[in-house]
Amino acid sequence: MTTAELHHITEQFNGPLYVYDATIIKGQYERLTNAFSGVNQLRLHYATKALNNISILKYIQSLGAGLDTVSIQEVKLGLKAGFEPSKIIFTPNGVSLTEIEEVAKLGVQINIDNLSILEQFGSKYPTVPVCIRINPHVMAGGNSNISVGHIDSKFGISIHQIPHLLRITENTQMRINGIHMHTGSDILDIDVFLNATEILFETAKNFKDLSFIDFGSGFKVPYKPGDIETNIEELGEKLTEKFNAFCVEYGKELTLAFEPGKFLVSQAGYFLTKVNVVKQTTSTVFAQVDSGFNHLIRPMLYGSHHEIENISNTTGRERFYSVVGYICETDTFGSNRKIAEISEGDYLAFHNAGAYCQTMASNYNSRFRPAELLWLNGEAHVIRQEETFDDILRNQIELDLSVLEGKAVNV
Ligand SMILES: *Cc1c(COP(=O)(O)O)cnc(C)c1O
Repeated sequence: MTTAELHHITEQFNGPLYVYDATIIKGQYERLTNAFSGVNQLRLHYATKALNNISILKYIQSLGAGLDTVSIQEVKLGLKAGFEPSKIIFTPNGVSLTEIEEVAKLGVQINIDNLSILEQFGSKYPTVPVCIRINPHVMAGGNSNISVGHIDSKFGISIHQIPHLLRITENTQMRINGIHMHTGSDILDIDVFLNATEILFETAKNFKDLSFIDFGSGFKVPYKPGDIETNIEELGEKLTEKFNAFCVEYGKELTLAFEPGKFLVSQAGYFLTKVNVVKQTTSTVFAQVDSGFNHLIRPMLYGSHHEIENISNTTGRERFYSVVGYICETDTFGSNRKIAEISEGDYLAFHNAGAYCQTMASNYNSRFRPAELLWLNGEAHVIRQEETFDDILRNQIELDLSVLEGKAVNV
């Protein structure tokens, strides 16, 4: 999308707004499938939690993808969007056996990440095929909150517990049809990732009845100029060779699966906000927009960098700004950012706003969650309306205190 197209949208719709460019999603999907074109069977399970709008899910389904889900609600969204149950994988962490049973009944591939549930599920349903999530204890990226494969992580079954795992699968006679890892976001070093895949291949040899190996995700996309990103083409070349060699050794053609979230949707998203106030202080110039961490929490939660562009004044002289929000709490989007001169009423576009932005939005400060638009074939389509005051009150129960007043409350 061009800056002019983004600006045109701000004239047509009330902000703040999330806009997603379908061509970028498609381009990223194709980049990944091309990088792994040397693999016999490839399956990309899009990670729903990155961006879960039903129209986005339908679009990604139309590209041929499967779905990665972490809750039964995401599974139901996926089914509603038209994904076949067999193309959905359920990779929860710390959910109840009941939830896993309910998802299994829907015909969705179950992925279990702890021995307790594995033993219980396997004892009850030995004929239902199950994938197991292994923790290879590899430190993927820099941030330990988003890197989930390390030793202290709550995710997956430790590779050091394989003997116990095998005892469970033997005793229950359950069928393991897949093996999985997800080392966490931000793979910076392909060789580190490839080391983790070696561990997974070694583990896979223990299971005779596999049909797929799922390498999770963690593909890093650039958030700012000069950022390193995962070299997908190099990864594709190196992993394809390893995978194909493994299939020969294993004696069966397996499916290679990935679960990209960020990679498919991050760069497709823009968050458009309007500047309410430009405030000079003794130390900086604040540009205050009609949003806050209620709409986009990543900078405050993870310290993430989102490029900020003044789409109302693209050629103005650049100045330094602290871009902040309007909620009653510190909600800094970016400090000391060089942005073309900002006037009150200008629109700012936040880049990389496709993944983990709208899905993490809340009603904090009793604000409405923003609308979402899908940019498809040169046109903007509303795929979520901005909330209204009714949404703020929905499910709240207003007690009639005048009736309750004076009555003894028996508990
Ligand atoms: C969140 C998640 C993903 C997606 O990770 P990205 O970094 O967005 O690609 C994939 N698999 C699992 C199991 C996840 O929890």
